[in-house]
Amino acid sequence: MKIFDLIGIGIGPFNLGLAALSSSIPGLNCLFIDQANHFDWHPGLMIEGARLQVPFYADLVTLADPCNQFTYMNFLKQTGRMFRFAINEQYFPLRSEYNRYCQWVVSKLDSLQFGLRCERIGYDSAQQVYEILSRETSSGKERIFFAKHLILGVGTVPYIPDFAKAKACKDLFHASEYMTHKNELLKKESVTIIGSGQSAAEIFQDLLSSRAQFKDGLNWLTRSDRIYPMDYSRFALEMTSPDYINYFFGLDAQVKSRVLRTQDQLYKAVNMDLIRDISETLYRQQLDGSNSAVQIRPNCELVNIEKVQNGFNLEFHHKETGRSFIQKSATVILATGYKNFIPDFLDPIKELIHLKETRVYTVNRNYAIDDNTSVFVQNADLHSHGFNSADLGMGPYRNAVILNAMLQREQFQMEKNIAFQEFGI
Ligand SMILES: Cc1cc2nc3c(=O)[nH]c(=O)nc-3n(C[C@H](O)[C@H](O)[C@H](O)COP(=O)(O)OP(=O)(O)OC[C@H]3O[C@@H](n4cnc5c(N)ncnc54)[C@H](O)[C@@H]3O)c2cc1C
Repeated sequence: MKIFDLIGIGIGPFNLGLAALSSSIPGLNCLFIDQANHFDWHPGLMIEGARLQVPFYADLVTLADPCNQFTYMNFLKQTGRMFRFAINEQYFPLRSEYNRYCQWVVSKLDSLQFGLRCERIGYDSAQQVYEILSRETSSGKERIFFAKHLILGVGTVPYIPDFAKAKACKDLFHASEYMTHKNELLKKESVTIIGSGQSAAEIFQDLLSSRAQFKDGLNWLTRSDRIYPMDYSRFALEMTSPDYINYFFGLDAQVKSRVLRTQDQLYKAVNMDLIRDISETLYRQQLDGSNSAVQIRPNCELVNIEKVQNGFNLEFHHKETGRSFIQKSATVILATGYKNFIPDFLDPIKELIHLKETRVYTVNRNYAIDDNTSVFVQNADLHSHGFNSADLGMGPYRNAVILNAMLQREQFQMEKNIAFQEFGI
């Protein structure tokens, strides 16, 4: 029976980064599995020209281990694009290029297996190992693996409000499916986008610049009181750091949720360049008289959806005037974000891991969720470690902390006191 030092479930950017970082540690025996057949980063939102919201050095490894062979710079060098990238002078890589970078890393690592869905995890207390039962998605064949440590990197799932769930169909869908439906959307008489994060803004701009004539309107509504730009100012960026995570982690749970509610601009907002591009496109189209009937409305909370002939009646509540109104739309795109989930495959080991009644993990400072520091989580620590949880740039840091905790030594040294500010007293 082969026992791996660690098995990672899910191969998104965070566990892929862990695989890349751990590949430089001699003797460490790792396996990462993913139910998808190959790595493809958010294909439903791979809108042409879309860029990362983090710079190129916030790749899978650099901020923890800049000499690692899997840096973005080495990817560019090895694929003959270093000079072109430099001359292009773009700090924020194209999302399609980042996807290719991740696929390049995948092609170089032999610790990854795709097409394997994790279905159940058990624990053998005599041997102190986890038993990972997985299934080949192509053949249905069962595969069992054993590991001393687990790293859960299963990502998040699209969030759809309860009242909309039963109505989901090809004309009412989550933003994560945008590219699948785009060609059909362009033939519709009206489209309504709900939400004001980066995805909503990208979709709005993509539809706007497609020059399709939405006879009855291209509508963008959000409950937020305005369309916020992402805060990239220097002192805000200092908060994307181990220093800030240390501070936030030490706050009371109630204070954490209060603080998080004020931080949308740090992680849920729209790239400033994109806001400018949208406004510029609207200006030009109005000048040459080519725009569809466009509507952008903040402060409008979607409260109900009714299916009617040729589309939907969307009921909105204006949060400041208190008035309600109905918006008709042939199609609806819910850019309503993503949410964490606790996978069912953990059921047999529920007693070993720490869960709150609110169905979130109790996450230790080192991202472990058990007493033995043997089960770790990625991107499930928003409530405990703060807004950096889903930030690609902080992935290498979290992975360094996880590997240091697992190995019980400082394999990766992280810089301390990076901020000019003091976050607490
Ligand atoms: C369109 C989009 C753009 C984004 N852009 C940025 C950005 O520019 N900068 C930034 O900082 N953040 C960005 N984010 C946020 C975040 O960093 C990404 O969502 C990132 O992909 C999260 O990585 P992950 O590894 O947690 O999960 P995911 O990428 O979601 O990967 C999880 C993987 O787990 C697998 N899985 C799930 N269940 C099982 C199972 N039972 N068995 C086997 N495998 C399983 C899935 O197949 C999937 O491949 C973006 C998010 C989106 C949606």
